[in-house]
Amino acid sequence: MQDSPRDRHSATSSSQSLSSAWNNAAEQVVLDSALTALRTDLARLNDPYLGAVGLDFINRLSRIGCRHIPTADGSCMAAYQSFIYPADPASNGFNNRIAYGPKARDNKNLLFSAHIHEGMHALQKASAPALHASPYNPMTRIILCPRDWITAQERCEQDAYVKQAWLNSLMAVHDATLYKTSRTDPMSVSHFNSLRLTYGNLHTAMAHAAKTVLDRNFFAGPLPAGQPPTSFADHYHALSINNYAQIIASRIRNDGENIIFVRLDPDDILDIGHGFGPNPFTRPGAMKCAQDFARPSKLSFDNKASLRDLNMDLGIVDDRSLPTLREALVTIGITRAEFLARAYNGYIEPRLTPPPIIQPLTKSPAP
Ligand SMILES: [Zn+2]
Repeated sequence: MQDSPRDRHSATSSSQSLSSAWNNAAEQVVLDSALTALRTDLARLNDPYLGAVGLDFINRLSRIGCRHIPTADGSCMAAYQSFIYPADPASNGFNNRIAYGPKARDNKNLLFSAHIHEGMHALQKASAPALHASPYNPMTRIILCPRDWITAQERCEQDAYVKQAWLNSLMAVHDATLYKTSRTDPMSVSHFNSLRLTYGNLHTAMAHAAKTVLDRNFFAGPLPAGQPPTSFADHYHALSINNYAQIIASRIRNDGENIIFVRLDPDDILDIGHGFGPNPFTRPGAMKCAQDFARPSKLSFDNKASLRDLNMDLGIVDDRSLPTLREALVTIGITRAEFLARAYNGYIEPRLTPPPIIQPLTKSPAP
């Protein structure tokens, strides 16, 4: 939800600025019709090695119950919204919906990119338990520490932008205008095609693409006055820190000392890449997360300082000594898969259920 034209997509986990514009019935009809046409195109996509990936994408997104909703917010190209904190009464806070702004709705190519990118975020959520250890998730008090929240967000964007470029490259076979419209993306169709040609293998090309996809300058053209050079990675790091700082303040107000900060283990990272298609965080045939992706994000000087301040506010002295998500879940007796499933099966945290109304005791009549 950024102003810059370069920031086409943003994954968001809060209700914040989206809620006011949801559910306009006429807009919904227009969006639904545009998405129906888009799915017809998508269903034709064939990868030379993997076959009918377009149809597979449509089916998987439908299976996890992801909804598609218009927003009147002109600054929003598209955004995936997972959790809302605090949750509405009788809801578990999991929204699982993609909002499309007017710019995406009215342009076929932008809508395609938006649908793919945000759809990848929805599929990551369905494959990675660590993304549910979110400060926005009202169902848990087990939350990723700031350092690893930033890393998880970075991996989500790497995966989504690389797979957006991949499916755009397959769609460009039918519609060559995508070569032009993808030029300002972190990875264009031409760039992705050249990597695929160079490495000769889709999976290897994706792993290489993921390493550099967020290196591109965030600001197109001359930098605004006083603006230091900012890569897409720097931008997403700063956004993650700001969002985290904002939401954790209300979590602490409500949950006090009960928050358990955890860190990621390499399997948590690997799960993010398992959402759809080849996993860019591992080598073909390997079962483990590649070292480059298992490490925490590399931050700019300013972002490092912001993270240090945030950790200090939260009393986190050493992120490396925190329990992993897996270890923390053992202490409450649930598996990682069960932790993830809560969002989709309607689980409601007991403390969110309103207290039962108990009929007051009436005095017995005097004998
Ligand atoms: Zn994104």
